[in-house]
Order: sequence, then C-alpha cells, then structure tokens
Amino acid sequence: MMNLAALVQSLRCSLLHIERRLLQAAGLTIDRQLGPALAVNGPSLLPQLRREEEQQQSPEQPAGLLDSILWMAAPKKRRTIEINRTRRRAENKLLRVKNNIEPCLECGHLKQKHIMCGFCYAKVAKETARIRSQIQAMEGGPLRAPTVETVILYEGETPSEQDKDKRIVERPRKRPAWFSQ
Ligand SMILES: [Zn+2]
Repeated sequence: MMNLAALVQSLRCSLLHIERRLLQAAGLTIDRQLGPALAVNGPSLLPQLRREEEQQQSPEQPAGLLDSILWMAAPKKRRTIEINRTRRRAENKLLRVKNNIEPCLECGHLKQKHIMCGFCYAKVAKETARIRSQIQAMEGGPLRAPTVETVILYEGETPSEQDKDKRIVERPRKRPAWFSQ
C-alpha cells in the first residue's frame, strides 16, 4: 500500500511538472496551483434539476408551452356508437307530443288550450301602447292624470251621459273587434 501511494504521489508531481512546463512553453503563466480534479459526467445528474429551479425562480422567463394548459379528465375508453345512440335517444331526451293545441277563436292561429293567444296578446299590447302615448301627448306626463275614470272612444262614437265627466281619449280609428265598449 505504501508503495502504491508513493507511486501515485510521484506520478501526480511529475504530471504537474509536465503541465507547468507545457504552459510555460506556450507563453502562459499561471498563478494558482493546478491539481487533479474530480471529473463527473454532469448533465445526467444535476443540471436538469437546476434548470427547473431556475425556471421557477425567475419569473421573467417565458412560460412553457404546456404551463397554461388546464388538464382535465379524459375518457379512458371509447364508447361504442350503440351506447351513444341509446343515451342520445333516451326517452327523457325526446320531445313530448302535445295534444292540447287548438285554434284561437279570435284570430285562428294555433295556440295551447290553457295559454293566451300570442298574436291576440301582441295586438292588445300594441293598441295599449298607442293609447298610452296619446295620453302622454294630451296631458304632457303621467303625473298630470285627472283622478277620474278613463273612457276610450273610437271613430264614430259619442260619449254617453254617464261618461261625460270622465277622462275621454279619442282614437282616430275604428274600434277593434276585441275591444268591447
Ligand atoms: Zn288569437
């Protein structure tokens, strides 16, 4: 053992000597004492871990391609078309057949029995809006309405005896059939 250690030491000294001579011949001067160093095949050991740490520590680094992805659960097996169609055409997903449809007695459009006719409702709403705008033009605002009843008179109608004291709005058109007097 002693012999081996002495041999290694002498080899090291001679190597250092040769190295120094070579550097001097090349014109380089060195201050520090050179010595043999441990060489490690690094990239498989450390730098990958370091790279990840650097990326986490420095926020100015551009984000990676996969960083902004929200990973969600994905099916592991494909469902067959039979199973998919059974689900899509299940009974609770089909439209129900309606048996309660009848024509409107006023206008003839189809409507559901228990629901007001939409076409008739639109007519009434439109005429009501016109009457309101006419009242607005007559009185200049909703707060100036007199505290009496209102009577709507259409073309060719005259106020009766009991309507004379009420607020009278005259519409320049024929009375619609649905508007009872
Ligand atoms: Zn109708």
